[in-house]
Amino acid sequence: MCCRRMAGKSFRGFLLVLPVMLSVLSACAPIRGRTEAYSQSFFAMDTYMTFTVYDDNAEEARAALRQAQGELEALEALWSVTEQDSDIYAVNHSGGQTVTVDDQTAGLLSFALQMARKTGGALEPTLYPVLTAWGFTTDENRIPSADELSALLEKTGYDRVVTAGNRVTLPDGMMLDLGAVGKGYAGDLAGQCLKEQGIDSALLDIGGNIQAVGTKPDGSDWKLGLRSPFGEGIFGTLRISDQAVVTSGNYERYFIGEDGVRYGHIVDPETGYPVDNGLTSVTVVADEGKLCDALSTALFVMGPEGAVEYWKTHQEGQPFDMILVTEDREVYVTEQIKDRFNLQKEYRDMPVYPIALSDEQE
Ligand code: AMP
Ligand code: MG
Repeated sequence: MCCRRMAGKSFRGFLLVLPVMLSVLSACAPIRGRTEAYSQSFFAMDTYMTFTVYDDNAEEARAALRQAQGELEALEALWSVTEQDSDIYAVNHSGGQTVTVDDQTAGLLSFALQMARKTGGALEPTLYPVLTAWGFTTDENRIPSADELSALLEKTGYDRVVTAGNRVTLPDGMMLDLGAVGKGYAGDLAGQCLKEQGIDSALLDIGGNIQAVGTKPDGSDWKLGLRSPFGEGIFGTLRISDQAVVTSGNYERYFIGEDGVRYGHIVDPETGYPVDNGLTSVTVVADEGKLCDALSTALFVMGPEGAVEYWKTHQEGQPFDMILVTEDREVYVTEQIKDRFNLQKEYRDMPVYPIALSDEQE
């Protein structure tokens, strides 16, 4: 898989470029010995990606970068909703018949369904018909009527997707879209691909999702900039190593309706309407990009209280940290990472509150 290369295809069928949420502040970090930075940028899964590896062998570094890009492009070709030879297209147009998919698709789908269950359906991999009605999949935005939305919600429900190994059965009329998890999942595989080729220091920027392989070459943490939901630039920085950092926000992709209301691209699967709960961004930090990606979308749907409750009750097994930013310019940071987070000077007006496991510590 690591060596498969396919032509880049549109991930969801529209070419709006996601702005990069996390700018990398460490790309020019001091280097040890003859170690140098090698970067490669490309467009895949509807977004720009930049992979940077640090190595003392130029050929090895460039070959590793080519392999990792090939990996991403191969996954995109499997998961595209619009390309007719993708696995997801085959499932979505199967008319209710069972389809056999690639191992990677089966892995992603099974993870997405597991996270849908865990988040009580806040992450909903079958929301595509509703997203299409709002025009989020085509960029021809409109406000659907309440009747249209309730009819479309009938065509959603992760618990109606049947999987058995690589075999997937989706009821006729339903559609899968794994876009809310795919980039994080792909980042894990790309990072693994680099490690397998001897790279132990790399930073992958997957359209704003960051996947860090190891530490900076000098052994110190990577320092990432967190894009401000309130304008240009970054509002804070975060130090991490060998982890992923993924942000979901309603400022990344939205439209202003004729009613003057701003409609964001993350939709509440219960109502069919774009989320409007006081949050403007959720950043999740964890060992695996797929967990970060699934959770950043789901916690955004849950809202500030729901997200904090989920964090408090899900620290077993796959722990994660998070940074919540509200529309009122408040920042909430889980206690384990609060010393690694810093506000930028221009954003010092934003109060930062720790989120602690027990109320006494708050
Ligand atoms: P992300 O940027 O990872 O938060 O993913 C957001 C994208 O996932 C949106 O642009 C939609 O295509 C899709 N989406 C929106 N709401 C949901 C949801 N509640 N569950 C799953 N996917 C969603
Ligand atoms: Mg996501």
